Amino acid sequence: MPLGAHMSIAGGMDKSVARGSSIGCETIQIFTKSNRQWRAKPLEAEEVARFQEARAASGIDPIFAHAAYLINLASPDDDAWDKSLESFIMEVGRCATLKLPFIVVHPGAHGGAGEDTGLSRITRALDECFTRHKDEQVTVLLEITAGQGSSIGYKFEHLAGIMERCLYLERLGICFDTCHAFAAGYDLRTPEGYEQTIASLDRLIGLEHLKAIHLNDSLGDLGSHLDRHVHIGMGNLGLEAFRLLLNDPRLKRLPMVLETPKGPDMKEDVANLSTLRGLSRL
Ligand code: ZN
Ligand code: MN
Ligand code: MN
Repeated sequence: MPLGAHMSIAGGMDKSVARGSSIGCETIQIFTKSNRQWRAKPLEAEEVARFQEARAASGIDPIFAHAAYLINLASPDDDAWDKSLESFIMEVGRCATLKLPFIVVHPGAHGGAGEDTGLSRITRALDECFTRHKDEQVTVLLEITAGQGSSIGYKFEHLAGIMERCLYLERLGICFDTCHAFAAGYDLRTPEGYEQTIASLDRLIGLEHLKAIHLNDSLGDLGSHLDRHVHIGMGNLGLEAFRLLLNDPRLKRLPMVLETPKGPDMKEDVANLSTLRGLSRL
């Protein structure tokens, strides 16, 4: 299983690769633009070339994207929905330019309009995005959420429902976030709880659609719907959950990245990666 962490692109796309390499990441997740802005300057050919060179030299594989948190494809507000969709389409385009295999996105928040309305708005947005990017290969990974506020995607049924209704099923996959799943009410701390969670993921969605994993411990308790990531082994999930996950042969070869708090020297990532590597027997 390639292990790594989310890396900053400050200073240029290629800097994310250098950062990942410097702490021994085998895979990394990146934003393809500022996470706090809707717009971005188009990628220049030289920057793309520098990124590809750095990637090839590093051997980090895969490098995949996470969409900006601003994007809400479930928004009940037409203007906000349009803005989200345009921005998301632009991000998928950047992934295609950078040759990233997938982009993780949170399904969105219905803002009081109800889950069904939210789910159909997400599906419509995805269909439109794929229609605009028909010839690209980028896969969109729907991330399981903690269910904080009115956010959708905290049940495997939500993700399955989007996949069923989307016209481009072959362009969709799933990203499993350990903190989100646990906060959403899926237990991972015991062999029984873990097995039940993975079995229900397989039954409702199919493990073949699972393409990436976010490794985060959880500040909140089971079913708390609190989306707060903490260092591996320091939260309510605890080490056993990660031991079960890292030694599950069904998840072999899936990229797994940390999204835990860190400073610029990334020593927290180093510690978390070493903890995780110590748990893995595969
Ligand atoms: Zn996410
Ligand atoms: Mn996540
Ligand atoms: Mn989160």
